[in-house]
Amino acid sequence: MFFFFTCGTHTFTSRLAGAENLTVQCQNCGNFSGHVYKRWEWFTFCFIPVIPFSLKPYKEVGCHICNFYQDTKYRPDVQGQMGWNNGQGQQGMMMGPPGHGPPPAGVPQQHPQYK
Ligand SMILES: [Zn+2]
Repeated sequence: MFFFFTCGTHTFTSRLAGAENLTVQCQNCGNFSGHVYKRWEWFTFCFIPVIPFSLKPYKEVGCHICNFYQDTKYRPDVQGQMGWNNGQGQQGMMMGPPGHGPPPAGVPQQHPQYK
């Protein structure tokens, strides 16, 4: 039991607004089990968050299977699904070679091939 001053860290984690229903592939274990989280780590004093470690929350892709977290800046595919295209390239394909073109109608796009 600790009744003295206790320092530590606390990480706030919540689903990122607008991306709650997004499910993306985990690049660590390969499962389509990743969700987009907002994570914000704070320094705590007596269990009270007082100083944030960063000015802004991290936006990360988290996997509940392997507990792997990855910043969304390394996941252009995720940013594309969330409509983050840095203001340009809205028409461009986020993945695949240029000139690939949209998939034909009736063909499900991005169907995972894993067995
Ligand atoms: Zn995983």
